[in-house]
Formats: sequence, C-alpha cells, structure tokens
Amino acid sequence: MKERENEKTQAREAAGTWSGLAADLARLVGPGNVRVNEPLSAHTSFRVGGPADCMVFPRSEEQVEAVLRFCRTRNIPVLVIGRGSNLLVRDGGVRGVVVKLADNFAQWEIEGREVWAQAGITLRRLALQTALAGLTGLEFASGIPGALGGAVVMNAGAYGGEIKDVLVTATVLDQNLERREMSPAELQLSYRYSILQKERMLVLSARLRLSRGEPGAIMRQIDDLWERRASRQPLEYPSAGSVFKRPPGRYVGPMIQELGLQGFRIGGAEVSQKHAGFIVNRGGATARDILELIEYVRARVRERFGVELEPEVRIVGDP
Ligand SMILES: Cc1cc2nc3c(=O)[nH]c(=O)nc-3n(C[C@H](O)[C@H](O)[C@H](O)COP(=O)(O)OP(=O)(O)OC[C@H]3O[C@@H](n4cnc5c(N)ncnc54)[C@H](O)[C@@H]3O)c2cc1C
Repeated sequence: MKERENEKTQAREAAGTWSGLAADLARLVGPGNVRVNEPLSAHTSFRVGGPADCMVFPRSEEQVEAVLRFCRTRNIPVLVIGRGSNLLVRDGGVRGVVVKLADNFAQWEIEGREVWAQAGITLRRLALQTALAGLTGLEFASGIPGALGGAVVMNAGAYGGEIKDVLVTATVLDQNLERREMSPAELQLSYRYSILQKERMLVLSARLRLSRGEPGAIMRQIDDLWERRASRQPLEYPSAGSVFKRPPGRYVGPMIQELGLQGFRIGGAEVSQKHAGFIVNRGGATARDILELIEYVRARVRERFGVELEPEVRIVGDP
C-alpha cells in the first residue's frame, strides 16, 4: 500500500518536473508540438510501448538543434524516432525526450537525377514522387513503412535493393551537435547496419542519386512489388516487419517453420502464420509478450540449428 503511494507520489513529481520542462520545450518548437507522458504505442507499428516522459515534434532543422542543445545542457536523454516501424518500446516507456521526425519534418526536392529529402519523409512518398519525375531506383523501398532517417540508420532494403545503393550523402548532427555530411562509406552501411546504430547521431536529411526511367514502367514495378509484399506479409496485423536479421548462409523463416512455431503465441504476441519471420500483435500484446516470444524463438533456433539469431528490431525503453 505504502509502496503504491510512493510510486504515485514519484509519478506526480515526475509529471510536475516534466510539465515545467515541456513549457520550456514548447517555447522552442511551438506549444502544439510537445506532449508529456505520451504513449509510444501510438507511435510504433507494433502498437506497443509505454509512455515517453516527453515527446517533441520539431518542424525545422533549427528546432531540432535547439531541442538537442536544451536536452544536452540539462543532461536529459534523447531518443530520435521516425515512423516507429522497426522499434520495440518496452512497457515502462522511455525516460527523457523522444524526438519524432515524421510528417512534421518531410520536405523534399528533386534536382536532375538527385533527390534531397528531410528525414521524416516516408519511403513510399519518396518512391512515388521520384517515380512521377521519371526516376528509377527507389522501387525496392516503396513498400517499406519507414521514414528516410530510419532507413539510413537501418540501411533498409528489400527485393535486392538497399539504401546503400542510392545514397549519396546523409546530413547528420553529431555528438557535438555539429552538422556533418556523411558518405555511405563513412556511415559503414552494410546489411541492416550503419554506424548510426552505435554512435548517437541524428539524421537530418539525405541526398539520393537515381537513374532516368519511364514513369509508367516504374509505377508498374512499384505495384508489382506491393502485391508480392501483401501476398507474403501479415500486413493485417501490427508488427515491425522481420524480427531477426538473416544469419550468414541461412534463412530465418524456414528454420522457424521447421520448428513448427508458426501460430505459437505468448500473450497477444504470435509468430505469424503467414510469414514465419514476423511476430505480430494479435491484440493486446505487451512489449514483454513480444520480448519473451523473441527469446523463445531464439532459444529454439539455437538449440536445433546452432544458429544465433540477432534481432533486427531496435529494442528501447524501460521494462
Ligand atoms: C510490415 C513491415 C514491413 C517491413 N519491411 C521491411 C523491409 O522490407 N526492409 C527493411 O529494411 N525493413 C522493413 N521493415 C522495417 C522498417 O520499416 C525499416 O527498418 C525502416 O527503415 C524503419 O524506419 P522508421 O522511420 O520506422 O524508423 P524507426 O523504427 O522510427 O527507428 C529505427 C531506428 O532508427 C533510429 N532513427 C529513426 N530516425 C532517426 C533519425 N532521423 N536520426 C537518427 N536515428 C533515427 C531509431 O532511434 C531506431 O533506432 C518493415 C516493417 C514493417 C512494419
């Protein structure tokens, strides 16, 4: 009883602190662009995750910089997210400030064969706009439900293409809040990896180089790939796409299939019956359900095949 009262008091104190900080942050990004105690389940494609102490939605590069500077001087931890389509946020939520760069941060411009865009633009929008402009090269990305910043961090890829193939440079804010242009080599892009997963840097924008093509043919390819995706992936349920990275020389799906794990559930989390590499939220799943299922699948795969599966989804937040 006493413990619960203490918890309540602590929560009230934290909320009080945050409402003060949120007022300061609102002066930097505008009052409508700050939320306190915001449930991250509303910002992740898994539809799970506890609250962020505070969430901000900056609309310009200057605002992003100002928010990071504000947090830096007060030692407030910062997590940057895009569309939350590769994120598993634990049920306790995220302490500090979550900076969301999505629709609020999605300008773009095509110049010749190059397209420049801010981190929050969706890959789908970018693929469609470049297709209309007669540029080919982003068809592979048109069905990936993330934003450009997250795609650079993850070196997102599908159907034989990846961000590495088209990226010229990414503009990042480094640890010292200096703006830097980083090439694909500096970003160390490789299979679902970039140095940004290790070093805390924020992607502001990226420049991609594409090739000339015929808009009709490009759109047909986009439609084709979408049909392939929709027929193989459980898009009817919340998920974060493939949960695990492909281990060298093996495919994840067939191993999980061979173990007979499709349809296996922990709480509301299920190994997809349609695509064994996906875990889906069948309704009411918690992050804990999903994490337990991930660990269960990893243990079974390790035991049967001697293969160590590494999660592709980024796991963040407090238990
Ligand atoms: C149904 C489904 C299908 C999918 N299919 C594919 C697929 O075919 N191929 C594929 O590669 N992925 C796929 N994914 C996963 C996901 O869409 C990609 O990884 C995507 O690139 C993530 O982008 P995001 O904006 O959602 O990033 P988030 O999930 O928001 O973030 C991912 C990581 O990047 C960081 N981050 C995000 N934005 C920034 C930024 N601006 N600066 C610094 N760090 C940042 C976050 O902190 C986090 O660590 C799929 C997901 C789903 C739900």
